[in-house]
Amino acid sequence: MAVDNAKVPLNSIRNIGIIAHIDAGKTTTTERVLYYTGRVYRIGEVHEGAATMDWMVQEQERGITITSAATTAFWSLDNVKYRINIIDTPGHVDFTVEVERSLRVLDGAVALLDGSQGVEAQTETVWRQADKYNVPRIIFCNKIDKVGGDFYESLKSVKDRLGVKVVPITIPIGLEGNFSGLVDLVKMKAILYKDDLGKDIDVTDIPADLLEKAKEYRAAMIDAVAEYDDAVMEKYLNGEELTEDDIHSAIRKGTISSSIYPMTGGSSLKNKGVQFLLDCVVRYLPSPLDKGVVHGKNPDTEEEITREVSDDQPLSALAFKVATDPNVGKIVYFRVYSGVLKSGTYVLNSTNDEKERVSRLLLMHANHREEVTEVRAGEIAALVGMKNLGTGHTICDPEHPILLESITFPEPVISQSVEPTTKSDQEKLGTAIGKLLEEDPTLRMQTDPETGQMVMSGMGEVHLEVIVDRLKREFNVNVSVGAPMVAYRETILAVGEGEGKYIKQSGGRGQYGHCWIRVTPLERGEGYVFSNEIRGGVIPSNYIPSIDKGIKKTLESGIVAGYPVQDVKVAVYDGSYHEVDSSDAAFQAAGSIGFKEAMRNAKPVLLEPIMAVEIVVPEEYFGTITGMINSKRGMVLGSDQRGNAKVIYSELPLANLFGFALEVRSATQGRATPSMEFKKYEVVPTNIADQIAKKTK
Ligand code: GDP
Repeated sequence: MAVDNAKVPLNSIRNIGIIAHIDAGKTTTTERVLYYTGRVYRIGEVHEGAATMDWMVQEQERGITITSAATTAFWSLDNVKYRINIIDTPGHVDFTVEVERSLRVLDGAVALLDGSQGVEAQTETVWRQADKYNVPRIIFCNKIDKVGGDFYESLKSVKDRLGVKVVPITIPIGLEGNFSGLVDLVKMKAILYKDDLGKDIDVTDIPADLLEKAKEYRAAMIDAVAEYDDAVMEKYLNGEELTEDDIHSAIRKGTISSSIYPMTGGSSLKNKGVQFLLDCVVRYLPSPLDKGVVHGKNPDTEEEITREVSDDQPLSALAFKVATDPNVGKIVYFRVYSGVLKSGTYVLNSTNDEKERVSRLLLMHANHREEVTEVRAGEIAALVGMKNLGTGHTICDPEHPILLESITFPEPVISQSVEPTTKSDQEKLGTAIGKLLEEDPTLRMQTDPETGQMVMSGMGEVHLEVIVDRLKREFNVNVSVGAPMVAYRETILAVGEGEGKYIKQSGGRGQYGHCWIRVTPLERGEGYVFSNEIRGGVIPSNYIPSIDKGIKKTLESGIVAGYPVQDVKVAVYDGSYHEVDSSDAAFQAAGSIGFKEAMRNAKPVLLEPIMAVEIVVPEEYFGTITGMINSKRGMVLGSDQRGNAKVIYSELPLANLFGFALEVRSATQGRATPSMEFKKYEVVPTNIADQIAKKTK
């Protein structure tokens, strides 16, 4: 299949993603979009495991999309050809970072709802993430054809749970199984889908029984959007009739400024409403130009700099995903923000200050690719041939260095030991892990200093299962894993001081390092801050970084139970040195000793990950499940009615959640399933902390 790499003007580019709760129909919808834009010739059903975007084997087997792939498609509206780059965003919460990095490089998104569920747990999560990256959105209410599929209930859940100004721009025709089309509230016409393939479409008058409702919703729509376009507002206030273009323009402006969220709907499975959704994507979602100038800083001076979004500017691009391809090796997905990236040229990786050559540029279509010679401003593609390029790195013109804002990744909350099965597995494991680490910034690998065992850490049970699976399939490495363990942390609750002395004077050259350390608690998530409060040179300034370094090493394994220490400010405020015997090593050791001592004096505690858990349960099991939550040191925060079921919002320590999904399912005859995600770290109750400390010691 030839890839159409036609040049389109910047204002005809749309970089979008589809964000949703798992099972809302993201894969099906993406598949339909690719079908209608002519990128695939047959509709692959998800349940047959043939969907085009789900090209990794495990994803097909699990029916979840794990790795985001970028694909390019074209859509024409009113004789203008638009280029739509779709970044796939996985639905499982263990891969929330995949969503983050996609959102970082997107201009707009389609928020997909399961019309029979409305806003669900992860809908809310990804919605908040999209808020964080300021991504304008259109809402698509999918599955209107399904029993219980309800556009209006979903609309209500958007208002209630997301609390945003949502504006329906269509209303559905027919309920559930009889769902047959949409009323386009801008055109005031009915769009009828006469077959299940979306090929035979009729645009007709609005059915008489819907006319009143359509008028009411149209009036509400105009009332909601007019204010975003001054010219339209004036006409509206003067009581003049608004044209279709007027309304589109006002919706577009309101959407791009994230003031409103237009909502439409359909059934991707039954091929209804998807073409209309594509029209909305190009009409209302922003082009790269709408995002305004690109902000960054000069890597040498830290001074703020900007670039216009234009091919004529110096190159700036952001790498957002690393993947290993069986045929070409390492490929890196990136977005160009300004300038043009050409194959065969040298570019600067301003994140690690290395110049590298870009050997090949690839335009991706899920598992199919086409080589191109250049990638222009506003576009998304993949490259081959930059060894040290990682996720979140900036690439730029070596003559005009710029560092773009990177992507933040959450810390892992769960670990598991990994044991190679045979000698040959052991030999291959290192390389395999190296590649996986390069691809996945939320995966960590450490060797337990005591047992010599390899321990991997990640975002959840599914995340680590997938890693083990990939080791086997992609790298042919067999491993056995231990039971999942909670990734505890350590911190302090009070200010404490300690003296670090490392003095050895036994003939010849001795060792002399001496410092006083003060530790102060920081807010959760602030990490580690070092401060030098030495006055009058009691410790020479060249040994200060040594103290910092010694402490940093010690942070990896705290004094409570050997877990990493976080959220502490460490100050060195006094000490002494020796003309001859002082050295870098001696001050590293002194820093470490002083820090441990200070920590001991600062009410050290263990922190544990607390998960936000949402469970949809049939009414009759409400008591059973809340009881279960309470018995696991959990807390019910509240509940809601959803259809004829209850939604329970709760928080539980991760330590008590292994196997929880299974337990919930068996207690409710499979009718309730929890969905959970990391919420925060909290102090472990003392009696439990003591047990944990005993075990690790
Ligand atoms: P994803 O997890 O969001 O990628 O969801 P999928 O696309 O895999 O869809 C999940 C399930 O919902 C599959 O069984 C689909 O066939 C089904 N599904 C998707 N869209 C629709 C729809 O519009 N109507 C109905 N009734 N089912 C749908």
